[in-house]
Amino acid sequence: PLPLDGKAALVTGGSRGIGAAVARRLAADGADVALTYAASRSRAEEVAEDIRALGRRALTIRADSADAHDPVTAVDRAAAEFGRLDILVNNAGIFPSGPLEEVTVEEIDRTLAIHVRAALLGTKAAVRHMTAGGRVISIGSNLADHATMPGITLYSASKAALNGLTRGLARDLGPRGITANLVHPGSTDTEMNPADGGEGADFQRSLTALGRYGTADGIAHTVAHLASPDAGNITGTSVLVDAGTNA
Ligand code: NDP
Repeated sequence: PLPLDGKAALVTGGSRGIGAAVARRLAADGADVALTYAASRSRAEEVAEDIRALGRRALTIRADSADAHDPVTAVDRAAAEFGRLDILVNNAGIFPSGPLEEVTVEEIDRTLAIHVRAALLGTKAAVRHMTAGGRVISIGSNLADHATMPGITLYSASKAALNGLTRGLARDLGPRGITANLVHPGSTDTEMNPADGGEGADFQRSLTALGRYGTADGIAHTVAHLASPDAGNITGTSVLVDAGTNA
């Protein structure tokens, strides 16, 4: 039997990059998977087709994580479609960067809404459907714990908030046998941060201990472990998958 046989998962921002890799991997491990997207409907459908080809159920949901209501609606739709919800992956994200003087109120509100508010509201909604063995896994960033360059104050602050969120959730949900954890990727080859992105990519590579970017599949592997029954005693913590950037 597969580790996630009979389970149902929701991955936010599952149309591309890390979220798409996570969605495919959870399905390969046996779960039915719902995924949200903001704009990339056809990309989301491609991921869903791959999941169905694995013999699992799939559902795509247009849900803007910047909105106060969409993250909750998405959770309830996924739970209704699958008749249960066992795993929530808070992955949807953006990368605001630039000089501090140019950061706007709108950018701050939008970033915190997507990275923090949506994760908190989505989790609050999801755990109403979860039973013992439930899993909440969020995608942070190595930049939550180490600011490697100027221009990322807003991004780092928004991802650092997930450290507190995850610890609080572990305490809130522990009595119900539900775990909450965080995966902090380092530089990972996606459309957000292409490994062939010139000087910026070379600089990021130079910060690593291993001299290379990570892959979306590599992050998905760690998420799959935390989602599995084998990780049942891991909660309230983070796993750094950053090729040693923060070492
Ligand atoms: P991509 O830009 O490749 O993909 C982002 C995904 O999030 C897409 O599926 C996108 O949907 C979705 N998304 C973005 N905004 C919203 C929104 N408002 N509502 C719903 N969905 C949204 O990024 P990555 O895969 O690289 O990043 C995934 C996560 O990993 C993010 O949280 C990011 O901060 C984090 N991360 C990435 C690193 C990297 O180097 N790549 C490093 C550390 C952390 P759509 O296609 O519809 O736009």
